[in-house]
Amino acid sequence: MEIVTTIEDTRNKIRKARAGGATVGFVPTMGYLHRGHTSLVEVSRTYARYQVMSIFVNRIQFNDARDFDTYPRDHERDFEIARNAGVDLIFIPDDKEMYKSRYTYVDMEVLTENLCGASRPGHFRGVYTVVSKLFNIVQPDYAVFGQKDIQQAVSIEKMTVDLDFPVKIIIAPTIREEDGLAMSSRNKHLSPTDRKNAVAIYRSLKEADTLLSGGEKNARAILSRMRDVIQKGKPESIDYVTMVDYAKLQPAETVSGKSIIAVAAFFGKTRLIDNMVIEPEGMGYKCVY
Ligand code: AMP
Repeated sequence: MEIVTTIEDTRNKIRKARAGGATVGFVPTMGYLHRGHTSLVEVSRTYARYQVMSIFVNRIQFNDARDFDTYPRDHERDFEIARNAGVDLIFIPDDKEMYKSRYTYVDMEVLTENLCGASRPGHFRGVYTVVSKLFNIVQPDYAVFGQKDIQQAVSIEKMTVDLDFPVKIIIAPTIREEDGLAMSSRNKHLSPTDRKNAVAIYRSLKEADTLLSGGEKNARAILSRMRDVIQKGKPESIDYVTMVDYAKLQPAETVSGKSIIAVAAFFGKTRLIDNMVIEPEGMGYKCVY
């Protein structure tokens, strides 16, 4: 595994790999790697021969300065995990390398109106800007994103269509702890009690799954039961529990067609998100979470 910090070195290494006939898979991350991240590399390996990972805590996507300052970082540990996962090239730039000037941003309408787009102003503008830059730097054939951040994955897929990036977006499953809590770098901040209680988010998704399999289609009924389940975990607050359609991420009153139920809640000061994708299957629905 090679580790580079500049855009020029990244381009040179990838050019070499391509000259040898390799296709390029790309997994962008903010580091503090866990099995959620390495699972994306595994998926990427099934599509492409040469694996690139970026590690960059992107200041401009943090709407909360404290969240940026306390975001966990451990590069040596990350390199070890990435090496074991079969990453060929790590691109780990600093702020100056990534943002030489900051006049240009990439933003999106409609898909950012709800969910995290509503509660984290400017967040997605920062995400689309850095992902566009990374796509231009790495020029991958495939880029893999986690279902865990579903609004990000779905909207980036749209962005690549709208801006004609020649990259195929793959959305990979959410990897969970044994009790069901979605893995996240931010889980490190949870107190032992909050860590235990946070499983309520996963339980709320299971509850929705059960209701849907029982034929319930009314969003209000499903979401209100989910809120009750989350409240049992004593969250500091619930940011949102929302059902949206998959195509435009607009609030849905009933399940019809491919949909998403997404949750954001604070346990202590830590904001956790999770979701499930609801896909029509036969006469009923399949819930993927
Ligand atoms: P992050 O480092 O949190 O910005 O995440 C980098 C990538 O890993 C994003 O595509 C995330 O959606 C994905 N990811 C984070 N946590 C998980 C998880 N538990 N399961 C699958 N993918 C994940």
